[in-house]
Amino acid sequence: MDKSLKEKIKFLDPKLRDKIEGMFNHMYDSISLLYDAATRDEKTGLYNTRFFETIFSMETEKAKRGQQNLSLIILDIDFFKKINDKYGHVLADDLLKQLAKVMVKNARTADTVTRFGGEEFLILLPETNLSQAKRFAKRLQNAIHKDRLLKKYKVTASGGITQYRKQRDSKKSMKSRADKALYQAKNSGRDRFIVLK
Ligand code: GH3
Ligand code: MG
Ligand code: MG
Repeated sequence: MDKSLKEKIKFLDPKLRDKIEGMFNHMYDSISLLYDAATRDEKTGLYNTRFFETIFSMETEKAKRGQQNLSLIILDIDFFKKINDKYGHVLADDLLKQLAKVMVKNARTADTVTRFGGEEFLILLPETNLSQAKRFAKRLQNAIHKDRLLKKYKVTASGGITQYRKQRDSKKSMKSRADKALYQAKNSGRDRFIVLK
């Protein structure tokens, strides 16, 4: 509960005060639930595409004005169809959730880790240049290799990395460049990240 509100009701009859506090907390929980439902993906708890697009617009505007470096990573689980066929979708879902955890753990709070499609993810890295983004991807790849559960089922991922190009880039061109890099990563053997400037 807000400090100033708490201060205001301090001298109220305790019963009434408790009632107000209870109502406030209930309202706060409801708003949190609504916010999460609107911005998060249900299965993984990662941000959803709607939230991503809003942040992506804001951050590309900043980058366009020359106020920051902005990097984007697209990541896709390798041979996830085979994993589903071999182990069933319940376990495959657990692996998807575990990968989401590993990504969040390795990202900064300013990064928007998003479930973009079934087994595809977007990570927007504000104030990050290409070499910092590459370093992050390397760290993430290592973490995927080392994670106990992911390692047990040999889960790997491929990714495309790109950076906002001064002035002439748009959300669309940036995303399609990252996609192109991902495609190259898949075609050159998977379990790797490819950079396209
Ligand atoms: P590639 O390495 O080329 O990406 O191969 P892939 O098999 O991962 O790619 P493909 O696009 O052919 O298949 C993706 C599969 O991911 C198909 C679908 O069954 C599975 N998938 C997508 N979303 C989910 C999900 O939420 N849960 C589970 N268990 N599987 C999913
Ligand atoms: Mg895949
Ligand atoms: Mg895919």
